[in-house]
Amino acid sequence: MNILIMGPAGSGKGTMSKKLHDEFGVAHISTGDMLRENVKNNTPLGHQAKDFMETGRLVPDELINEMVKERLLRADVEKGYLMDGFPRTLVQAKAFEDITKEINKPVDIVVNLKVDVDTLAARITGRRVCKNCGAIYHIKNSPSKVEGICDVCGNATVQRPDDTLEQLQVRLKEHTTNTEPVLDYYREKGLVQDFEASRPADEVWLEIKQAIEAIF
Ligand SMILES: [Zn+2]
Repeated sequence: MNILIMGPAGSGKGTMSKKLHDEFGVAHISTGDMLRENVKNNTPLGHQAKDFMETGRLVPDELINEMVKERLLRADVEKGYLMDGFPRTLVQAKAFEDITKEINKPVDIVVNLKVDVDTLAARITGRRVCKNCGAIYHIKNSPSKVEGICDVCGNATVQRPDDTLEQLQVRLKEHTTNTEPVLDYYREKGLVQDFEASRPADEVWLEIKQAIEAIF
């Protein structure tokens, strides 16, 4: 089973990815982790990527595609893959199509997590962080015992500078601009299933699980 998972920050993508890995044995492949691992192990591809990263340039698509291909041929992908954060652009989606054809592991389903702006806004603007120990609170969902004071260490809790409505709107707009063409590409192939992810995680998971079981 080969899965792509998409959704903005705050959509619960990390939680669902873990559940998909545990339930179906698919290899969870995050391109960020993959890149860091190649650099750390100083693989030939990692070595090339490092040159770009150290000079502040974007790692080119061709290099990322090579890494993805190499990653998909490893033993732990036997039961399938779960791609997280890739393909991010239409160019990458088309390249990914070529790769998966070549190794005969086509995409079976694109799990698209949709969250309404109000839910994301409530999740993000209610977040408070302890400046001292990093403990995270939410003014409604998990407040500290005394407002504005960390339960763990007694220091002040604050709102992160980018946890604002303005920043959320900027991030959402970026996400939409980048992912819409990719989603449209897979929608045309009939592979996208949308999940309303504003609801509790257990409900969302049950639907995703059923959708995947229905395919196989
Ligand atoms: Zn603290």
